[in-house]
Amino acid sequence: MMIDFTESFALDYAGARTKFRATAAELGGALSEYRHPTLRTPDGQDLVVDVVRLGDAAAPSQLIVISGTHGLEGLSGSAAQVAWMKSAPARALPPHLSVLLVHAINPYGFAWGTRTTENNVDLNRNFVDHEAPHPANPGYATLYPDLVPDDWTPAALQAYTGALDRFRAAHGDDALFNVLASGQYDFPNGNNFGGVAREWSNVTLEKIVADHLGQAERVGFIDWHTGIGGWAEAFFLCFNDENGPLHAEAVRWWGKERLIGQRPHNMARPNYQGLVFHGLTKFLGRRPMVGAVVEFGTRGVHVRRALQLDLWLKFKAERDSERVQLLRADLHDCFVPVSANWREQTTEQAISITQQAIDGLATWSLAAAA
Ligand SMILES: [Zn+2]
Repeated sequence: MMIDFTESFALDYAGARTKFRATAAELGGALSEYRHPTLRTPDGQDLVVDVVRLGDAAAPSQLIVISGTHGLEGLSGSAAQVAWMKSAPARALPPHLSVLLVHAINPYGFAWGTRTTENNVDLNRNFVDHEAPHPANPGYATLYPDLVPDDWTPAALQAYTGALDRFRAAHGDDALFNVLASGQYDFPNGNNFGGVAREWSNVTLEKIVADHLGQAERVGFIDWHTGIGGWAEAFFLCFNDENGPLHAEAVRWWGKERLIGQRPHNMARPNYQGLVFHGLTKFLGRRPMVGAVVEFGTRGVHVRRALQLDLWLKFKAERDSERVQLLRADLHDCFVPVSANWREQTTEQAISITQQAIDGLATWSLAAAA
């Protein structure tokens, strides 16, 4: 496959919106907009989740593909959506199947260049029951005090490295990863903070499901991310029950080598809380959903430093110095590498992974839901 990454990637949120909407229009897609009621982009434009329907809204089989759950990763997910729309199979959907593309479900994070929502909430930890006690993550309290230094210098960063080393020595790599990544609900200025209430993007996703997936009888789901896996390689995190028929269906679509026994950064998978996957499952009620978070790898475990940098830029950085711009460019490159090599490889895989989901959904092998 010949890939020209400049056709699918954009430089920023506004450019990504333009490419997404123009490509969808060429395909005759039906566009809907979900506008943030109060917030704007850094240059004063509206923050919008763009949603495109390709095919029949009444189709019994529907694929939903989301980009920008983590705003910083949005340029990759947006490119994945655009590149698939530009591919030949997008012009020939199977019968009784339609595709819903949700662009920038976290538009604030996309436009402002942070992983989180406007409230420093990790949207992919926000889909818990906020009326119930939040999931506990006691280990996080031991790491938090050293997380964000006042200044971003190699010397100041030693404190956090030391805290991680001490935790790892006491509890092991797997436990450390679980504490850092599973989600925490106690430190609003920390990372992987799941929030205290449903974020605007969370409520908006429920509205999108109600508006567009009401007639679906079965749903396929891809949530595009970056940061886990080998350089430019797809890494799947499927949250269907590993012993159940829906997971077996995911294996049929994407292959067992991608779905079974996955070890992110070669560690045990964290006990992730409050994922978009969990939210969608709830919004769909009794209707079956097969799907995955699909990551494209960048810097392996070194992404950890970039998560720290995201917070430092948000809470501690001076305004717009050369140093801050250098650091910000590095942060973006960590999640969506500028490299043409990375962009070509991930684009090719994104097209094929999307198509595998469509082919799988079109040949759904499970009995009708009870
Ligand atoms: Zn992500």
